[in-house]
Amino acid sequence: MALTKEEVEGFEKQLCDWRDELEGSQSKSMHAMHEAEQRAYPDPTDQASIETERNFELRIKDRERRLIRKIEKTILRLREGEFGLCEACGGDISIERLEARPVTTLCIECKHEQEQEERTRLS
Ligand SMILES: [Zn+2]
Repeated sequence: MALTKEEVEGFEKQLCDWRDELEGSQSKSMHAMHEAEQRAYPDPTDQASIETERNFELRIKDRERRLIRKIEKTILRLREGEFGLCEACGGDISIERLEARPVTTLCIECKHEQEQEERTRLS
């Protein structure tokens, strides 16, 4: 993959900013959750909706945490010069695809193949 030094630096910055943003939102929502727990909710309906909200938030946080790990892995790949290479076939991932989704590790062909396989498995 012939990424220029500027492109590599651009991606690295983009990924680092993205990660910082996600990490920021993680600690912010943790704080909000803690605050909600501190308050007393005598009404069981309220209690239930708080539970639902909390579960929802936990699911989002879980997804965010996984994304953060993915971003960190991508930054490592970037530093090792493996960024932009498909993990399945070793081919180049197009720059358009990387720009749209920098954490991707599959080229479009392999991604389609994987989706096809998933569809076959599910049907
Ligand atoms: Zn591939």
